[in-house]
Amino acid sequence: MNAPLNISMPVEASQAPKAYKLLIDGKHVDARDGRSIERASPGHGFVVSRYAQASAADVEAAVQAAHKAFEIGPWPRMKASERAAVLLKAADLIETRLAEIARLDVLESGKPIAQARGEIGGAVDIWRYAASLARTLHGESYANLGDDMLGVVLREPIGVVSIITPWNFPFLIVSQKLPFALAAGCTAVVKPSEMTSASTFVIGEILLEAGLPAGVVNILAGFGADVGAPMVSHPLVEMVSFTGSTRVGKTTMAAASDSLKKVSMELGGKNGQIVFPDADLEAAADAAVFGGFFNAGECCNAGSRLIVHEAIADDFLNAVKALSRKVRVGDPLDDRTKVGAMISADHMEKVAGYVTAAETDGGSVFAGGARLASNAGQYLDPTIIRNVTEDMAIAREEVFGPVLSVLTFETIEKALRIANNTPYGLSAGVWSASIDTCMSVARGVRSGTVWVNTFMEGYPELPFGGYKQSGLGRELGKRAVEDYTEEKTIQFHR
Ligand code: NAD
Repeated sequence: MNAPLNISMPVEASQAPKAYKLLIDGKHVDARDGRSIERASPGHGFVVSRYAQASAADVEAAVQAAHKAFEIGPWPRMKASERAAVLLKAADLIETRLAEIARLDVLESGKPIAQARGEIGGAVDIWRYAASLARTLHGESYANLGDDMLGVVLREPIGVVSIITPWNFPFLIVSQKLPFALAAGCTAVVKPSEMTSASTFVIGEILLEAGLPAGVVNILAGFGADVGAPMVSHPLVEMVSFTGSTRVGKTTMAAASDSLKKVSMELGGKNGQIVFPDADLEAAADAAVFGGFFNAGECCNAGSRLIVHEAIADDFLNAVKALSRKVRVGDPLDDRTKVGAMISADHMEKVAGYVTAAETDGGSVFAGGARLASNAGQYLDPTIIRNVTEDMAIAREEVFGPVLSVLTFETIEKALRIANNTPYGLSAGVWSASIDTCMSVARGVRSGTVWVNTFMEGYPELPFGGYKQSGLGRELGKRAVEDYTEEKTIQFHR
């Protein structure tokens, strides 16, 4: 048995929890019914935040504020250059508060601090990219319809957008939505996860400081049923931008269909990394460990299935196992930590249950597999499971923990069949020195992203989203702002 992890208590443990109010119509307000949510740090165990807990009445007030800000303006009718200036100022302010925001995400989610700083830095870049798109958003004109006719196609902001986000990348994911909605001229009601709301409230403060008019962005903490559901069904909301599980995504889409709202869905993944014998196996082993255990595997893009050629399986997996044993698990606030705490005790039990079920189904634990004892918080050992077959739950379902399932293949056809044998289609990786092999896999995999001899890199310029049940629509990329617009055709007759 390993020695228990020794988690040091940060200074926040001896302070009162940070309190956050709802942001409605430019004011920080208590919930109408006075309730609040307490969030305990999953890595340390003390109450770190207390948020005002919204209910349907607060949703009503927030949507009305966003609707008023859209109808009366000036936000939707401001010059693009003016909207871009607010987004750029916000990006600067996020950068100034980067360390503080990263620490909030760490204390609430249990992710490692060095990683969190990278995420917030990435978010700054995204806000700046969105600002640049505000100024290049344009419509079309048609002068080829005869001498009497000029056709003009405008891109107008769609209206009030409900933005609903999960807990695994609290600041990064809202940054993949909100600045693009704002760049288009939309107004928004934002609901972060009930477990990780603090950093989203900081965005509210920053946007007001950057000069965003009151009511353009409203932020509510609360649960899916009380707050998320009315944000989806409200008749004044025109679009729902949702990131979360496929299960809740389906419910949300069904609810949005009642009033035919536009939806954007970024959902779960069950991604495979396929490794061929001619690959740079050192780099592939690094990527297997990074892909499997980054963010404790609590990542839509996790490379949770390692699909390895039979000829190299033993040697390659021994290398991956050796690397996995060097992954430092522990205090999320320690700069050296690579795998932090699991988001909640319930979630840890769910992940551990997948490992037990995999063993019952015929898989064998090749590395890790254990809950790690600690003086505070909840931690799992990075785990590798061999002898996994395509029909097993661990090969098909999103585990969302530090668990890597290994499947093997002899032919490229079988590798592709395994990679595609899941309801998800978010991302995939291929490792080979052969351009032919890489091309065949990249074209044959049914997923929104394929990484060739790399894994889980992201750039604001590149669209991101899922095939199949991993989602609908794309975020980021040069069309990201268009998503938050309607097209209006105007015909001018002479
Ligand atoms: P979740 O689906 O449980 O919750 C997501 C959000 O939806 C939360 O804010 C939650 O409160 C809200 N919600 C719950 N019920 C709702 C309802 N009925 N109506 C409206 N909103 C409701 O997801 P989670 O556990 O927070 O996050 C993990 C999931 O998110 C994983 O499946 C992961 O793959 C996915 N995810 C996907 C991406 C992507 O870009 N594709 C990125 C990150 C996470």
